Amino acid sequence: MTRVLVVEDEPALARALAITLRARRYEVEVALTGAAALDVAGRWNPDLVVLDLGLPDIDGVDVLRALRAWSGAPVLVLSARHDSSDKVEALDAGADDYVTKPFAVDELLARLRAALRRRDPVAADPVVTTAGFTVDLPRRLVLRGEERVQLTPTEWSLLAELARSPGKVVEHRELLAVLRGSAGGRPGERAVDRESHYVRVYVAQLRRKLEDDPAHPRHLLTEPGIGYRLEP
Ligand code: CA
Repeated sequence: MTRVLVVEDEPALARALAITLRARRYEVEVALTGAAALDVAGRWNPDLVVLDLGLPDIDGVDVLRALRAWSGAPVLVLSARHDSSDKVEALDAGADDYVTKPFAVDELLARLRAALRRRDPVAADPVVTTAGFTVDLPRRLVLRGEERVQLTPTEWSLLAELARSPGKVVEHRELLAVLRGSAGGRPGERAVDRESHYVRVYVAQLRRKLEDDPAHPRHLLTEPGIGYRLEP
């Protein structure tokens, strides 16, 4: 599991972030101060750090510099400050990205995933092989046996999101966010893709292209009321 250290001195926000991340199968530790952050980072060796810049004891940028002295883990900065010089300072000190408070959880999660992918593109983008087909994320292609399956960009985006966490449920709203992101340039699609049934339509299309018996799917599975998962 991917380890995420959340450094945030507002207990309610820290707790909300921890719950959100754990629900998405991240392993999470929380530090409420800069000193605690450096202590936890030193013994736990996180894969990624979410770091609030405004901490009670040590300035977030100084925490970042201390961290960077020995850790290459991506750091996603949370900033309540509107002054862009703080963000520039954080980026100069080695932050990978930043999110300005208040932020949407989906945006934070998307940036977190992107930071992890940049760090380790091969591990983050696997080749997923099922009994029926292969999803090759690094090469952006799907094979049934030797034959390449033609997918629309939207179908690919949806399948890729499921394939990034094989065997794990991806929630409806995460898939909707993917659809919104991939609909680029096609106004008709963008207009209707907010409907949750749209996800179902695309999953049905994928099943027709990938499943031996689309009516009884073995790999593109529905988790009723939650979302979908790709079962290898
Ligand atoms: Ca703060």
